[in-house]
Amino acid sequence: MPERENATLVFLARNSDLKGVLTSMKDLERQFNHKYLYPWVFLNDEEFTNEFKGRVMLETDAQVYFGLIPKEHWVQPAWIDERKAEESRERLMKQKVIYGGSTSYRNMCRFNSGYFFQHPLLQPFKYYWRVEPDVKYFCELSYDPFQYMIRNNHSYGFTIALYEIPETITTLWDSVKEFISKYPQYIANDNAMEFLSSDGGETYNLCHFWSNFEIADLDFWRSEAYQAFFQFLDAKGGFYYERWGDAPVHSIAAALFLPKHKLHFFQDVGYQHASYQHCPSSDESTGNTCSCHRWNSIDTKKKQSCLPQYKAMLSDKDARPISPVNG
Ligand code: GDP
Ligand code: MN
Repeated sequence: MPERENATLVFLARNSDLKGVLTSMKDLERQFNHKYLYPWVFLNDEEFTNEFKGRVMLETDAQVYFGLIPKEHWVQPAWIDERKAEESRERLMKQKVIYGGSTSYRNMCRFNSGYFFQHPLLQPFKYYWRVEPDVKYFCELSYDPFQYMIRNNHSYGFTIALYEIPETITTLWDSVKEFISKYPQYIANDNAMEFLSSDGGETYNLCHFWSNFEIADLDFWRSEAYQAFFQFLDAKGGFYYERWGDAPVHSIAAALFLPKHKLHFFQDVGYQHASYQHCPSSDESTGNTCSCHRWNSIDTKKKQSCLPQYKAMLSDKDARPISPVNG
């Protein structure tokens, strides 16, 4: 058994997600984890049933932990104006925005933005790999991605970059700009603003990393910069008055508070969630076998993928100062 890093596989799920949970686990165990036996941490806002726990434990030889999320990290806070929240749900439902009418989805997005890394079961760990129900891992992984993150001094790894639904984040970027002008000390010098904006930060291009897959450093979310950012955003109420997702929130933070070389595109990881997938091209693959077709990969669809923005950002050596928000 190779040595393990201080890392865990994190899975937020409902009891009703069991079937999709097992599908995802089978793939990840087969492609990677059977060689390493990284522990799994399952989190839920309700108690996991004995059936759920029993079935999950049959899928792995690794340690499995099951945790309950404290109510105060999950439910809509009492200071949220429920009338405004309800207006948002009705508005987004009318606009046919996915999960537009759902409060529990908003709870989930806020939990993933501000609280998962605070859960007691995650305290011992520094790195995590986020897993969701019904995802696929197409390629055999021949190395330890956690070790890779550590050796290369990376903090945030992704496989898919795409555009956010504008209706869900109407005022998010205004809040981000306000935060930047209030706390310029948190913005990294060599940041990835160009991934987020083509006009130096004036407007948001909706690009973000798809957070259903993340291999990242928990200490980044626990950092002073991110804590200040989450508190600032949370106080705006946008998780409920709009439908801010944890994906844009995580992505904007990683792009602005980290120097760009701390981001990592796991190009050799074949991955599918819902209708999008990343299937490595022959250049991207590290010689591993993948059971997917390149032509299905989101990266071949220019209108959907934000990978071009990511690559352009990386190749630009001169980080431009963030403009004109310091007015
Ligand atoms: P999508 O990926 O945006 O379509 O949303 P999902 O339905 O996959 O939810 C994202 C993650 O949060 C998945 O891991 C779900 O299992 C989990 N999740 C969503 N809603 C809830 C909930 O109300 N309770 C719990 N415990 N998990 C949830
Ligand atoms: Mn999902």
